[in-house]
Amino acid sequence: MALKLEVTNVSKRYVSKSKDRTIQALSDITFAVEEGKILGIVGESGCGKSTLSRIIAGLESPDTGTVQVTGKPHPVISKYVLKNRQRTVQLVFQDPYSSLNPRQPIYKAIDEVVAIYQPALTGSERDERVSDLLGRVGISRDMSNRYAHQFSGGQRQRICIARSLAANPEILLLDEPVSALDVSVRADIINLLLELKSQFNLTYIFVSHDLEIVKHVSDDIMVMNAGKIVEKGSWNEVMENPQDQYTKTLIEAMPKLSRRE
Ligand code: ADP
Ligand code: MG
Repeated sequence: MALKLEVTNVSKRYVSKSKDRTIQALSDITFAVEEGKILGIVGESGCGKSTLSRIIAGLESPDTGTVQVTGKPHPVISKYVLKNRQRTVQLVFQDPYSSLNPRQPIYKAIDEVVAIYQPALTGSERDERVSDLLGRVGISRDMSNRYAHQFSGGQRQRICIARSLAANPEILLLDEPVSALDVSVRADIINLLLELKSQFNLTYIFVSHDLEIVKHVSDDIMVMNAGKIVEKGSWNEVMENPQDQYTKTLIEAMPKLSRRE
């Protein structure tokens, strides 16, 4: 199997606002994801998951280390990158409300991404593309003039997913994509993500503070603690034979029945 994503020796340190403290957000992170697989990344709040996600997506650069997508360096976002439509990794965030502009009909949020990545399309071709993307996430065309606040949390996350797909990504980086949603809609969004993954031949990185959420989806799993990888392997290997004490604690905190599934 071809490697889709390779993260090698990535470290990142932040200096606190008062400049009296440094935070080692990531220490020497190395892992790879095969094409078409789902890697679950789990660890408690503050362990560096979102920092790692932003670096992989090219929204931030690491202090040291490299990110490669399909064997090529993945560039940090810049005008050049956008112009050359090189955004093969797209991020989906936890909070679908704050990532949508409240003063913009949701149609526009997707249309502007289509305009960047498919500049040759005519106006009506773009309309069609936006409707198609919304349709794939279960939002009908006649709702597309509404604003973000007129949708439920689950619908807003669907819209954010459609917007990510508008960039024709190869990798979707899902940073706690259902953590802010009602428990009742989480499974719908996860099922939608799984459908889209096979429709678009995507590779997923699914980040969560909750082992229970990633268990339904992960081929492989990586556990982080305080900026370091403490465990990685296939889901079954890790569940049956965890090596690290922190991983053991996470697994013990899961309901017994669900561990064995
Ligand atoms: P997680 O997503 O696992 O909750 P984060 O990646 O958001 O963790 O944060 C990891 C650590 O880095 C935390 O201690 C956080 O406070 C710190 N951090 C993250 N982003 C910044 C930043 N831009 N400036 C300073 N510290 C940051
Ligand atoms: Mg986070």
